[in-house]
Amino acid sequence: MTEAVDTVHVDLGARAYDVRIGRGLLGRAGAEISPLLKRKRVTVVTDETVGALHLSALREGLGDIAMTSLALPAGEGTKGWPEFSRTVEWLLAEKVERRDVVVALGGGVIGDLVGFAAAVLRRGVRFVQVPTSLLAQVDSSVGGKTGINSVHGKNLVGAFHQPSLVLADIDVLGTLPKRDFLAGYGEVVKYGLLGDAAFFEWLEKHGYALAGGDLAARQQAVQHSVMMKARIVERDETEEGERALLNLGHTFCHALESATGYSSRLLHGEGVAIGCALAFEVSQRLGLCSQEAPSRVRAHLKAMGMKCDLSDIPGDLPDADALIGLMGQDKKVVDGRLRFILARSIGEAFVADNVDTGVVRAVLTESLMNRR
Ligand code: NAD
Repeated sequence: MTEAVDTVHVDLGARAYDVRIGRGLLGRAGAEISPLLKRKRVTVVTDETVGALHLSALREGLGDIAMTSLALPAGEGTKGWPEFSRTVEWLLAEKVERRDVVVALGGGVIGDLVGFAAAVLRRGVRFVQVPTSLLAQVDSSVGGKTGINSVHGKNLVGAFHQPSLVLADIDVLGTLPKRDFLAGYGEVVKYGLLGDAAFFEWLEKHGYALAGGDLAARQQAVQHSVMMKARIVERDETEEGERALLNLGHTFCHALESATGYSSRLLHGEGVAIGCALAFEVSQRLGLCSQEAPSRVRAHLKAMGMKCDLSDIPGDLPDADALIGLMGQDKKVVDGRLRFILARSIGEAFVADNVDTGVVRAVLTESLMNRR
């Protein structure tokens, strides 16, 4: 059982930073954040759920650093213009200066929104991510993608703005509802599927213990996921090429999130898991990977009690053509052609620009038929 804090350094030259992963990090936030501060004060933005559970521990951990805080409503609906502008105006009212540090305490919604607010506030202030959901710890807090949703689609407004520090406290995952934990696990599985077959195999063995609360397994999974993301981001910070692999499952996911109105019918990480299963199905239909690969992906997701098919989404869904139309709104559309991340095997994903829409339509139609 490891008690030590792991550090993954994200080597981006002038924008380099550490991701600290371990237990008890909230309680020592002051010592961790102090080196960044020019004056002893921080502004913290959180959501109401996370704030009620963890803000007081952060306040205590900050010691003699003064803190003011804003709690936004929890959930994806917050990640839009109204709460964004409220946050920016609040930070200005708090007189946050260019050299100050803003802290995002929460899941991916808070991290994305607050990171974007920090990017535009006074043309850019530094920010610290304190991710509290599994999804945020393994994915959204690292790599500098920040932003909000538009009525035209998800994450369509944003900026690349790297955090100055990430504190991933494994203990806070203890209060995460099981459904949110498993949604985050969808992103963990994604790393194995896109680039590390041995990690996927490790997850097949340890996933159950990890979901059950095994802290050492949780720390190891977060550390390994962050390391994989960091190495990819270092090679391709602004997604000119390789970073797109991190979007495995996301073209499907974004269409499904849009079709379900970004509601609790489908959480982002659940959409990613379903999207990964569909991407492997498409890959197999195109003769790119073995028949066994999509079955193995599904089997693991099912064993974990996760959604892995369109039939697992409650309520009605639009037909395959409408879903493909929603994919057209995705940022991953290049010159009107759909871009997918497909796979040659588990652990070997690649970017495919010329995907036969007919095969995608067939896979979606079949998956929708399973519902009836
Ligand atoms: P979220 O922030 O809405 O958190 C999920 C729920 O869990 C919320 O209700 C939140 O209040 C609650 N919660 C968070 N931590 C908790 C804790 N420790 N205890 C109890 N409850 C807790 O959503 P998420 O799943 O963390 O993130 C999804 C968002 O992340 C999406 O908007 C997605 O687009 C974005 N995302 C961004 C990137 C990126 O690179 N920037 C990558 C992946 C996902």
